Amino acid sequence: MNDLAPRCAERGRLGGRTTRQRSAVLRVLDACTDFVSAQALHDRLATTDLPVGLATVYRTLRELERAGCVDVVRDETGERRYRRRPDDGHRHYLICRACGRSRPVESEAVEEWAEHTARITGYAAVEHIVELTGICARCRPDTAEGEA
Ligand SMILES: [Zn+2]
Ligand SMILES: [Zn+2]
Repeated sequence: MNDLAPRCAERGRLGGRTTRQRSAVLRVLDACTDFVSAQALHDRLATTDLPVGLATVYRTLRELERAGCVDVVRDETGERRYRRRPDDGHRHYLICRACGRSRPVESEAVEEWAEHTARITGYAAVEHIVELTGICARCRPDTAEGEA
């Protein structure tokens, strides 16, 4: 149904060139439950037995992004943050600007709109980035306990 969301091509397009560094980056990404910056990934990798240079982390993340293996958002400073994309396709997230916590949100309308727009314009390989940010229930001073 969702042909526009590229499947993770880790074992396909990228397969032949899989490097130890990429595996290390993916392993750390898998262990992250939330979006992380390249710098944070680099810091985590520094504690493993296979440290990866920051430039390599950036390059690897760009490759993974192109291959559809990660979802990307930008935080309030404009820095890109990454999260491993689930196997069943890309997701959209609502991210708290205060604590950075993220949760996947229903986005069927966005997918349909993107598909429709591609169809009526005749554009191929249409991609989209939709970012939702807000203040989560936990961080709102007027709510005692999070209702999420
Ligand atoms: Zn929050
Ligand atoms: Zn989407």
